[in-house]
This record gives sequence, C-alpha cells and structure tokens, in this order.
Amino acid sequence: GPIVVWLRDDLRLDDNPALALAAETNRPIVPLVVLDEESDGVRALGGAHKWWLHHSLESFASSLRGKGSRLTLRRGKAKDQVLDVIEKTGASALFFNRRYDQASRAVDDAIGEALGDQVSVERFTANLLHDPENVETTSGGYYKVFTPFWRKVSESGPRDPIDPPDGLKQPDTFPQSDDLEDWELLPTKPDWSGGIADFWTPGEKAAHDRFETFCDDLLSDYHKGRERPYADDTSRMSPYLRWGEISPYRLWHTAQAYANRRKTVPDEAIRTFLQELVWRDFNYHLLFHFGPLADKNFNDRFDNFSWRSSKKDLKAWQNGLTGYPIVDAGMRQLWKTGWMHNRVRMIVGSFLTKDLLIDWRDGERWFWDTLVDGDIASNTAQWQWIGGAGADAQPFFRIFNPITQSERFDKNGAYIRQFVPELKEMPDKHIHAPWKADKDVLEKAGVKLGETYPEPLVDHSEARDRALSAYDEVKG
Ligand code: FAD
Repeated sequence: GPIVVWLRDDLRLDDNPALALAAETNRPIVPLVVLDEESDGVRALGGAHKWWLHHSLESFASSLRGKGSRLTLRRGKAKDQVLDVIEKTGASALFFNRRYDQASRAVDDAIGEALGDQVSVERFTANLLHDPENVETTSGGYYKVFTPFWRKVSESGPRDPIDPPDGLKQPDTFPQSDDLEDWELLPTKPDWSGGIADFWTPGEKAAHDRFETFCDDLLSDYHKGRERPYADDTSRMSPYLRWGEISPYRLWHTAQAYANRRKTVPDEAIRTFLQELVWRDFNYHLLFHFGPLADKNFNDRFDNFSWRSSKKDLKAWQNGLTGYPIVDAGMRQLWKTGWMHNRVRMIVGSFLTKDLLIDWRDGERWFWDTLVDGDIASNTAQWQWIGGAGADAQPFFRIFNPITQSERFDKNGAYIRQFVPELKEMPDKHIHAPWKADKDVLEKAGVKLGETYPEPLVDHSEARDRALSAYDEVKG
C-alpha cells in the first residue's frame, strides 16, 4: 500500500529523510500537512507564523507538483486527520521526521500506538544535527551549559545531506484536501504583512538562494558581521530553519565546503557560524530534557521573583515607544519585518526583564506572535537566558545598558534611523539618548520629546537598582 508522509516543520524536498526514504521504496506516496489547533498543549501559531506558513505551503505544494505528486491539506486534530488519511488511502506505512517538544511528541506517540501493528511507523531525524537523547554528559545526564555541549558534539561531524527524490509515485487516488485559501492564514483586517512581504520570500528555493549569497559575500566576515545590526550581514536562515525549508545538515556541509575551498574564510568565521547552528540544537536539547520551557523557569528560584505587572509599559515596549532609541528600533524592526537582529533581541530582552522588570514570558509571547522565525526551543530558551531564569543564563546582575550598547553596536545610528525615522536628523552623538541633548540640538533635528518621540519610560540607573534589589530577594 501507499506511504503517508506526514510533513510538519520540514517543508522541503532536499535532505528530507522521511520523503526521500519513502520515495526509495517505489511505493505510492501521499504527502500530508495537518493544521492542528486542537491537540492538547500544541502551541497555537502566531500571526507572523501564519503568514509564513501560507506562502511556504504554496511553494512546497508547487515543488511537489514538479515531482509528479500532490499535497494533501487537512485541518483538525492531528490524530483524527492522520488516521483518516491512512484509512482512506489504504496506506500501510506512515513516515515522518521527528519533533521535540513535549506536546508534539505526545501526539506522535499516540498516533503510533493507535496504528498498532497494522501500519508501520517510521521516524527520522531531519531538523537537528544532534538528537537530544544522544548527547550525554559523562555521568549520563544532559547538558545545561553550551561550551561542553559544543565540545561533546564536535567529537563527531553530522551525517551527509540526502539529495531530493527524483520523482514521487502517485497513489490511485489522492485523498480529499482542503483548499489553502480556506485556512485563512493571511491577515486581512488590517493587513499588516506588507513590510514582511517586502523583506522575505518564504520557500525552499529562496532559502537556498539566500544561503548561496551568504556564503559568497558574507561568510568570510561573519564573526564580525553578526554584531552589525544596521547591516544585512547574517545568514537570515532562521525562518527557513524554523519551517524546515532548508536542512541544518545542508547548511553545515555547504558552509564548510565553501570555507575549505576559499582560503579567504578565516577559521573564526566558519567556526562561529557552525557554533550558531549548534546553539539551535542546544536549545532543543534543553527543551527536550526540561519540558515546559515556555512556561516554567528553568531556574526555579525565579518562581518567587517579583515581576512588575504594567500593561502600559508592556505596550510601550511592544510598540517601540520606550524612549530608548535602540530598543524602539528593534521592536519596530520586529513589527515591520517579522525579524530582529540577534544583538538587538538581547538588548530589548534585557530592557523588558530588567529595566521594566516585566516577566520574560510576556516578551517570549510577543516574539512568538510577531517573529517569522518564532521557534519553540530557541525563543523560549533565549528568553529564559536573557531574563536570568535560564539554564546557562546570563547572570542576572549583568544588566545591559541600552545607551552604551547602542553606542557600541550602532555607532552612527544607522539602524536607529532606519526604524525610528522621527530621529533621523539627530546627530550621531545624541541619537542614542536624545533626552540628554541640548534644546537647540533637538530643535534643529525637529524632535520634540514627549511629542514627536517619547521621553524615556524609566531612568536606566534607577531601573537597574530596582532590578538588583528584586534579584537580591531570590538569589539566596
Ligand atoms: P545567523 O547569525 O546567520 O545564525 C545562523 C543560524 O544559527 C540562525 O538562523 C539560527 O538558526 C542559529 N542561531 C544563531 N544564533 C542563535 C541563538 N542565539 N540561539 C539559537 N540559534 C541561533 N532564533 C530563532 O531561530 N527563533 C527564535 O524564536 C529566536 N528567539 C530569540 C529570542 C531572544 C530573546 C534572543 C536573544 C535570541 C533569539 N533567537 C531566536 C536567536 C537569534 O537571535 C536568531 O536565531 C538570529 O538572529 C537569526 O538570524 P540569522 O538567521 O541571520 O542568524
């Protein structure tokens, strides 16, 4: 009988073990995607996610047609839909690539059990370079610190990527499929997606094209380029990895082959890039072993932390109206493009959790709703890290100063000018902290604090003291 290949965050033909190994059997293939908003604990997609998924599915469906196949779309509880498709097609096997969060694993296991011996279930590793249970400390536990994790996984390189299948054999009939338009994933009233569409092209081909540009033009300077928020100097692979439109194995080996071929790529550049890919695995390692990473403090001392609750301050942060230009630029980049530079994610995360003393979970949820790369492991682990509650956390007392960070990483204010146009005319020297500028400087730049641009929401040094006293109460 046919094989149902259930695709989740792996919307690609290249290096897709479930699809490639199903194709190798020469049996008919039924590619299936389920929009599951009903299974227990499975996290609902954010707004930016939905926009991405819509375009990604369009692109993937077209790639499958190019292989002589067709994508089946179903909406509903994953278990019901998968079992129904298996029954309707008389399939004798179900293939999929593994997922790692608790709720999704429970769904996958329950389907495996329900199918019993009638239908064989094959699971593959596709989206992580290292399966979380295969990386163990010498005492048999899991890693909570990145560097030893990196050292351990560096003992053996990741497998080679698998080429896309030549063709996919059709079943006698394809099962009934939803129409993608009926899923209504795109925003309508209002349509806020214009900036995202200008900035991104979802899909497997766009992922490969962008990665080639990155290797050609940016990789050799990556170790420095990654600290320049105003430049387009990073790979921008995060949403493609989030949806599995490109494989981390493909990225690893392609980047390494480039570096070997081109003597102009310094060791530090390629090593830093490969390390970033492994950070992603490390976050999944934490998610897998810890469990509720989106909800519970990894460090349970923070369960007693007195976070402030201020809807007004949270809103000002979300809208990019805190009065700290680098923070506001980051938050507006996020809203406009569905993405934010890593350095700035750290700055805005520190500002929310330390300067405003607002729970990291509020920041995590906002990112989840607005990022196109919002990732179940990286977003949660990184928010815990920046908020001080994480595994390998930034010590809580090391509080980012948003002004000196801005002066250091956006010296000439190019990033701020791009996303906070009302400060465009401010001189470089004063753009990082406009409230410190003399009246005539502000006037000349057309800035009226409190009118055209907000006064700072808090005083950083007072806020810092407040955060440190709150921390004193839990640090033990
Ligand atoms: P590059 O610098 O080109 O890095 C290449 C790849 O390495 C990235 O695509 C990503 O997969 C991985 N990577 C890089 N840095 C990290 C990191 N710190 N942790 C994990 N993986 C990393 N990344 C997400 O993919 N999804 C998220 O939801 C997410 N939320 C974050 C929240 C906060 C508060 C912070 C501080 C960081 C978060 N990151 C997240 C990590 C990082 O900011 C992004 O992966 C990166 O900015 C993506 O841009 P890029 O693809 O150009 O990265």
